[in-house]
Amino acid sequence: SAGRVVIVGGGFGGATAARYLKRRNPAIDVTLVEPVDRFYTCPFSNLYLGGLREFESIGHGYDDLTGSLGVTHVRARAQDVDGVAHTVTLESGDVLSYDKLVLAPGVDVNFGALEGYDEAAAELAPHAWKAGPQTRLLKAQLEALEDGGVFVLSAPADPFRCPPGPYERVSMIAHYLKTHKPRSKILVLDAKDAFSKQGLFQAGWTALYGDLIEWVGLSGGGRVVRVDPRTLEVETEFGDVHKAGVLNVVPPQRAGVIAERARVTNEAGWVPVKPRTFESRTVADIHVVGDATIAAPMPKSGFCANAQGKVVAAAIAAELAGESAPNPSWANTCYSLIGPDYGISVAGVYAVANDEIVAIEGSGGVSPAEASPDFRRREAQFGAAWYAAIAEDIWG
Ligand code: FAD
Repeated sequence: SAGRVVIVGGGFGGATAARYLKRRNPAIDVTLVEPVDRFYTCPFSNLYLGGLREFESIGHGYDDLTGSLGVTHVRARAQDVDGVAHTVTLESGDVLSYDKLVLAPGVDVNFGALEGYDEAAAELAPHAWKAGPQTRLLKAQLEALEDGGVFVLSAPADPFRCPPGPYERVSMIAHYLKTHKPRSKILVLDAKDAFSKQGLFQAGWTALYGDLIEWVGLSGGGRVVRVDPRTLEVETEFGDVHKAGVLNVVPPQRAGVIAERARVTNEAGWVPVKPRTFESRTVADIHVVGDATIAAPMPKSGFCANAQGKVVAAAIAAELAGESAPNPSWANTCYSLIGPDYGISVAGVYAVANDEIVAIEGSGGVSPAEASPDFRRREAQFGAAWYAAIAEDIWG
């Protein structure tokens, strides 16, 4: 074969890398290690919570990748990586060897970083920051919430998966409450003073939901320091205690644990990479893509994970052929939905300069503060079109 590549994780970054490696050179042996048969995306999971989408519409399988493209899907969790021996050990004990390894495990919750929030707590106060059973649990809790109940969301400090995600989530839940439980309220307790597209979100909240959503930032005492999952109470840094009807904790995060097993993480739990190839800065022949990496100013988005997956595929295909990796640039657009016909976006374009990732000056930006209802409606439509297009680009 033209080389053996093992990819751990079949989400936005990993499944993209698998597809684009095979497209560049079908003779490369590509094995995708991913325990699930059907991947549910975090993008648009907020629309499911808001009642605008069916759960199955955010699920995607691997048949297209394993069919004509010839990717091998191993349904297993990777347990360990030996970067010297170039092997991946699976939970079953089976060992896969590689010439190049791509790690795309996304994030894991940093259980223990927030007092009271462990795996058992997540069954009572879901994070729903990985789509699947957690998302369905949160939805069921919302449906059981009494009219007049309070939905509390605790938002983490940077960096975390999907900077606009918590704010799109409360927008969609506001839509659900306004239409089903109009006496209910939303309280956002935030560990930071500023968030992505803040001005646009807050203007949209006022326009669509009046005073339904209250947001409290860090300096207002918004940082949650303790969670009691049994009483659904949270305590803030300033000592205030809030009781929720439904409590959604978006907890502190780090790279998926397999990255730590592969010894590619830093003290903060994220993976430093060489910008040109997304190869680990510490272990040769291990490339890392997506949320697990330190790629700022690129955000931890599915859009970026997809773009990074393509760059890694190009770099690996070139290196396996004895050529040097091309010089990349990346783009990102994060669409957020505030109401069914009210979309906003933030975009950026990035390149490599002096071994760092930089935002290209004058590129990107956010939606205009003043815009017609028609403009907001079109951005909502662009968001839906983006989702359909990227899902097809990744899973087929
Ligand atoms: P993932 O897509 O999470 O994939 C990781 C995969 O690795 C998983 O399938 C997991 O099963 C697998 N895995 C982990 N460990 C192992 C192991 N040891 N062995 C085998 N497999 C393993 N981004 C956008 O661009 N647009 C949006 O609108 C958007 N909305 C979002 C809304 C919410 C509520 C959230 C939470 C996120 C949103 N995102 C959005 C962000 C997006 O979900 C992530 O940035 C994206 O999923 C990152 O891709 P990834 O490949 O790094 O990780």
